[in-house]
Amino acid sequence: MARPKIVGETKRPLGEKEPPPSSGLGPHPWLSEQSRSAHQQRVRSGAIFDVYLSRVGEEKIRSHAVKEAPRRLEVMGFLLGEACTWKGEAYSVVRDVVTTELRSSSSKVRFDPKAFPKLFHGLDDSGFDYILVGWYHSHPGHTCFLSGTDMETQRSMFNQPYHVALVIDPINRDIKTFRLRDDGYEETMFAVFDPLHDVAANTKGARTRRLKVTPVMQPGH
Ligand SMILES: [Zn+2]
Repeated sequence: MARPKIVGETKRPLGEKEPPPSSGLGPHPWLSEQSRSAHQQRVRSGAIFDVYLSRVGEEKIRSHAVKEAPRRLEVMGFLLGEACTWKGEAYSVVRDVVTTELRSSSSKVRFDPKAFPKLFHGLDDSGFDYILVGWYHSHPGHTCFLSGTDMETQRSMFNQPYHVALVIDPINRDIKTFRLRDDGYEETMFAVFDPLHDVAANTKGARTRRLKVTPVMQPGH
């Protein structure tokens, strides 16, 4: 995938903030029965999820992947949101996603260099104090995992514990989130949330950080 270099980004500690309430959470409709029951157990236990994916973000990712599924083309984009902690646990919130025109095949995808202005515009227009919490891409018919190239992308761009790699397979109707772990990666648990239930999201805050993203082309799986 494209490989933005994030420049001019100042490090700041993760803020302590309560995650979206369990009343607004749901499992993704494409979760397997096993993952669905793990989701329910986590809600019942009161433990937090690793990733909270807003309904609007989820719908954009799914419709993007589904749209190109008949031609078996991969899609991708960035996940925008926040990284926080709650009672010693780190988690990520994906509030929105942004993408632009892509050049893709069934096994490779990258941003179309001519489409960068739209991508930057999308990042600027997201309307909240965002950070890049990760990226999404599709594996049409290939199931959900991180390939060697995906791992290179993750290691070079998204190597913090809160960084998310979301992979969606619109043919097999599967979706998973991953993060780096030691020399490899691990699946994480995510929930879809309805921002209407999320009071924190409705609190307007000044934008405290801006990202400058300079994508560098690299083919990816
Ligand atoms: Zn991949």
